[in-house]
Amino acid sequence: MDKNCGYVDNLTGWGFVVECVARFAEYDEGILAEPTVDLPHTLRRIFGIMWRIIQILFCGLRLTCPACRYGRMYRSLTKMNVRCPVCGMIFERDLGEMTGAIWINATLTCTVAVVPTLYFAFFTDVPLLPLFVVVACLTSVVGALTYRSVRGMWISILYLTGSIHEH
Ligand SMILES: [Zn+2]
Repeated sequence: MDKNCGYVDNLTGWGFVVECVARFAEYDEGILAEPTVDLPHTLRRIFGIMWRIIQILFCGLRLTCPACRYGRMYRSLTKMNVRCPVCGMIFERDLGEMTGAIWINATLTCTVAVVPTLYFAFFTDVPLLPLFVVVACLTSVVGALTYRSVRGMWISILYLTGSIHEH
């Protein structure tokens, strides 16, 4: 189990970025004679942190636990595990936390539905009623298909922001 990908490390990572930016700002304003940070090292650290964030988000999309990157989030097509079967992290502490996932999914689905609808309604001669029926069906299917992955990614976001953690 990779212990270097935890939330605490993300936090110290962010602290490092903030501190570097502050030092460069002081140098820019003439408070510091020279920037006291080693630029190549700093950039490597910042890219490392960015890469870790991308990996954690992808873990969510792949429906894998963001903390250990091994445990599966779902035990069946629709049932989510309460805890990660590998590291024991609680995925969903209360139902209200999933509102964010529902919002992201709704926005995504609406965008997928609205853009082609506007195109067909304004630039083609397709009758409106069949168009709306097709779009309504497509929206339901797309929404149902993407919900699992969006929910997984939302858990990754909660993990990155520290709302859920190993203990
Ligand atoms: Zn886990």
